[in-house]
Amino acid sequence: MDQIKIGKFIANMRKDQNITQKQLADSLSISDKTVSKWECGKGLPEVSLMLPLCDILQISINELLSGERVGECDYKSKAEENMVKLIKENEQNKKNMILSIICGIITIIAVCALVIIASYVELPVYARIIFIGLAIVTAIVGIGAAAMLEIDAGYYECPYCKALFIPTVKEYIKGYHTFTKRRLTCHECGKTGMCKHRIIR
Ligand SMILES: [Zn+2]
Repeated sequence: MDQIKIGKFIANMRKDQNITQKQLADSLSISDKTVSKWECGKGLPEVSLMLPLCDILQISINELLSGERVGECDYKSKAEENMVKLIKENEQNKKNMILSIICGIITIIAVCALVIIASYVELPVYARIIFIGLAIVTAIVGIGAAAMLEIDAGYYECPYCKALFIPTVKEYIKGYHTFTKRRLTCHECGKTGMCKHRIIR
């Protein structure tokens, strides 16, 4: 999805309706920061907000996702194009999630193997140190790669305002986490809480 194009389109359609960002935000019960984010191309409206948003802007979902007015004759082809794009985005997220898990498992096996070799195989001291060093480097690189893949796989959902957002690498690494949730500060409402990881929108 071309977020910048969609954002500009939302801004233009809103101005056509003579409403401010604040008025639009109020009628959707969201913050005006969220509207401004969409219009700057920094995020797409959540699926649950798409229908009411399109209603207010008097456009179709197809037009919203295309980021432009769609004429009668390309309506069908545009709709199909948009569907394929949404499905592809979700597929890519799933792939990244699976890669992240595989990457994590390989890292754990490799680190364990290196530590076992260093501890139990008869080796000169310098070789043991090299193996331990390799284990540490493997752990750092492996966990880093798994984290990068997981950040790319989908969104985190705020438990308070239900906004979906993608954390920065710094926020992600700092956040205490369980298997499906991570402690993050919401980019929309600014509250900190356990945010659920969602692979698809
Ligand atoms: Zn929030």
